[in-house]
Formats: sequence, structure tokens, C-alpha cells
Amino acid sequence: MAEHGIWFRRTDVTDRDALIPARYDVVRQSPLCTTLVNDAGVSVGTVEHIMAAIAGCGVHNALIEIDGPEVPIVDGSALPFVRGIMRRGLRRLPARVRAFEVLKSVTVTQGDATATIAPSDVVRIDFHIDFVDPAIGRQSKSLNMSNGSFARELSDSRTFCRQDDVKQMQANGLALGGAPGVNAVVFDGDRVSSPGGLRHSDEPVRHKMLDALGDLALAGAPIVGHYTGTRAGHTLTNQLLRELFATQGAVRMITCDEEMTARLPGSGLVWDEIPEVA
Ligand SMILES: [Zn+2]
Repeated sequence: MAEHGIWFRRTDVTDRDALIPARYDVVRQSPLCTTLVNDAGVSVGTVEHIMAAIAGCGVHNALIEIDGPEVPIVDGSALPFVRGIMRRGLRRLPARVRAFEVLKSVTVTQGDATATIAPSDVVRIDFHIDFVDPAIGRQSKSLNMSNGSFARELSDSRTFCRQDDVKQMQANGLALGGAPGVNAVVFDGDRVSSPGGLRHSDEPVRHKMLDALGDLALAGAPIVGHYTGTRAGHTLTNQLLRELFATQGAVRMITCDEEMTARLPGSGLVWDEIPEVA
């Protein structure tokens, strides 16, 4: 149904409202993942990779049914979700796509991290990271997110962590949704442990861009604008959305004409663009 938007429904919850909107204003802040909580206190965690797949495949309306409080991490990337969406196929609705057009630049900062969204006639994401581990180091990437760009360039990049973080998480009784090295790439100084090695030499920065697209998708419609993240994480991108929508005259809703619809993320995506991974 057009204008439905993206919703999650917890099929294991029957005594309370089980519908959770995929919207930035119901995000519960967490540095490691993005969790959504509805008014009844029902939550769904780690939504960012499935949201990235939804945005990157050009899905504007969906009901995602899930039988537990956490979206499966699978291989740590968005590829399994992209494959699932494309295999199932999409239905074109007899309605024009609505999107947000950024009219004014908005920036948020937190320590040495910044996130900016600026006017642009396409959806564009730039990201810069800087880690002490030589195996990650400094990485920068800039992508026009139109059409199959997300599927081709970003969808197979897996979440990553540092060995020091793993030790700390284990000490706190936490794991990154499973076993490190299976569904997360682990960096330890100049060493990388992941099955089959890296999928891209700059897999970390690509994954940060994937996360950014997923977190931005919580605006409720594609944001036609230029996002730049420097060391930014889920919390900062969520703050950026809150700031964007709270700033007078910074954004407006538009109805896309055919030309604009044709250059939105996921528009015209075909199966051949989806990466094959071992
Ligand atoms: Zn992620």
C-alpha cells in the first residue's frame, strides 16, 4: 500500500501492540546497533542492515514480520536481505514516490565525529574513518547511491570490530550478535580474522556507508541529499536526522517525478548487480 511506509511486526508478541514503525523518532540510542521501540515498549534491535537493504533495493513500503527482538545478523552484511528482497520480488504501486529534499546543510558533532547532510540532486554518501589498527587505518569513500550502487558496492560489506573491543564485550558478557570472525570481521593491529579474508580492501568504510544508508532510511522516505560522515556511528546519524527535521526550512517533502524516481537508490536494480560471495 502506498504511504504505508516501513513497519516491523513482532509475531511473538500477542498481549501488546506488536507494530513498530521504522522511524528515527522511536530509536533507542545504542552505540552498537539501532533499536526501535514502540509506545507499548515492544522493541526490535539491529535494524540497520535490513533497513539498508530495503533502502538500497528501492523498497518504500513493507511490513517486516519477525518472531523475536533482534534482526538476525546473518553474515554481518546486508547481502542476505538484498538477496531475499530480490528473490521475492517487488510490486510497483500506482503512486508516485515521495522523498525528502534537503534545502539547508545541517551538521552534528560528537567529540571528533561529525555527520552532515547537505543539498544535492542525488542521494550521495561520503564516509571517512581513521583507526589506529594498521589493518584498517584511514579509509575514505564517496558514492552516488543511485540505482544499483548500494547492491553492487556496499551490500556485501560486513560489520567489523577490533580485538580490544571483543575482549571488552566478552568481559561485559556481550558479543556482537554471535561469534566474532563468523558474522563480524575482527581487526587486531595489522591482522584480520574473518572467513575468506576481506571482501574488499576497504570493507570497513563500505560497511560504515551501509550503516549510514540504513540509519538514514529511518527518515521514513529517501533523503535526496549529500550525507558526509567522519568517524560517525549510529547515534550520531540518528541525531543528524533529529536535527534535520527540527531545523526550520532544512528539509521538505516532495513528490518525485519520473526522472528523480529513476535515480533513487534501488531504482532499476537487477539481479546481475548483486555480488557473489564465497
Ligand atoms: Zn553495521
